[in-house]
Amino acid sequence: MNAPVASVLVRRPAPSAGCTDAPVLRERGQREVFCGLTGIMWLHRKIQDAFFLVVGSRTCAHLMQSAAGVMIFAEPRFATAIIDDRDLSGLADANDELDRVVERLLARRPEIRLLFLVGSCPSEVIKLDLSRAAGRLSQRHSPQVRVLSYSGSGIETTFTQGEDACLAALVPTLPPEPAGAPASLLVVGALADVVEDQFTRLFGELGIGPVAFLPPRRAADMPRVGPATRYLLAQPFLADTAKALEARGATRLDAPFPLGVEGTTRWLQSAADAFGVKPERFTAATRTASERATQAVTRHRAQLQGKSIFFFPDSQLELPIARFLARELGMRLLEVGTPYLHRAHMAQELALLPEGTALSEGQHVERQLDRCRTLQPDLVVCGLGLANPLESEGLSTKWSIELVFTPIQGYEQAGDLAELFSRPLVRRLRLAA
Ligand code: SF4
Repeated sequence: MNAPVASVLVRRPAPSAGCTDAPVLRERGQREVFCGLTGIMWLHRKIQDAFFLVVGSRTCAHLMQSAAGVMIFAEPRFATAIIDDRDLSGLADANDELDRVVERLLARRPEIRLLFLVGSCPSEVIKLDLSRAAGRLSQRHSPQVRVLSYSGSGIETTFTQGEDACLAALVPTLPPEPAGAPASLLVVGALADVVEDQFTRLFGELGIGPVAFLPPRRAADMPRVGPATRYLLAQPFLADTAKALEARGATRLDAPFPLGVEGTTRWLQSAADAFGVKPERFTAATRTASERATQAVTRHRAQLQGKSIFFFPDSQLELPIARFLARELGMRLLEVGTPYLHRAHMAQELALLPEGTALSEGQHVERQLDRCRTLQPDLVVCGLGLANPLESEGLSTKWSIELVFTPIQGYEQAGDLAELFSRPLVRRLRLAA
């Protein structure tokens, strides 16, 4: 830990501080990532009257089943319409087949209000135009059901881009603000309901409002958007969604991401500045929660301080998490890899990272594995495919996908976020004892 959290909180990064101008190693080679279909695993739980129909192959269906296997306790709100040999050989009209599947689905699940047709590698190979299909089906089933489409296919993407594509597809359909609407805040990126409720309470105490969330919990609660909308990204992987919101006139509030005590405070501060909240009110609204969070984080410092960590590029959460681990827990960052580096969205995160941090963008998995083995970090953050081999070589790992399935944003979750990283180290110590 370079400085106590309290003093970190009040300092804003100088424009050229940290890693703002740091060189980035760009690699293009074989990658080890899941495709964008994975996003359905958390999105289907968030929008409670939506359904995700993947138009794909048995491989896509298997991915969905194995990724969601442990979470299914009721009828899931996703399924795969399998493209089979007859579709691939052109013997069947895939559009007719799709229409029939959708008819059957909507008859069986009358609670569905929003249906996403999710494209895959196979649907793209046979050039099935899902946006046209969505338009046709939407006309047929509106106003009860709106049908949208996006691509979850995965050759050149990473798994969190599925959420970006989904939200970007929603943005053009959001209702407009009424003329002369007062400034409103839109929080963008799927958050666990419990986290959303905490932020809603905090914004209420700060006197910031109206506040809406994208995605909403129900299709009927789509937020209005327009030039009076100020939006805060809650997730760092939403480049296309941000672009679509800006095309509707919304303005992004520049902030780090709400991970850890510092990130959460700065994120809230950005909204407070935009809505003219007085400093005393800000302190009064945030002090108790931030002090409690600092204590919760501190409990893990003894375990993590001075330990080294290496990030393989996977979730796009790597930079904000690395910033949290370095500044609030004193970990040493050996390499922070990210699939894509969005310099504008990451400007504040880059400025907060310790100077000299090795940054990489994209992946050449063999070269990166060599660097990792040479450095022998205490902890490696990586995708599922790399974790087991690295564990068998004696390295401790943390699955990056856990970071999107676990509520980690905000003050109340800061201790849990720290624990996600201390747990594998504790486990290895116990195994070694
Ligand atoms: S990579 Fe392509 S084929 Fe494989 S599961 Fe994802 S969408 Fe389906």
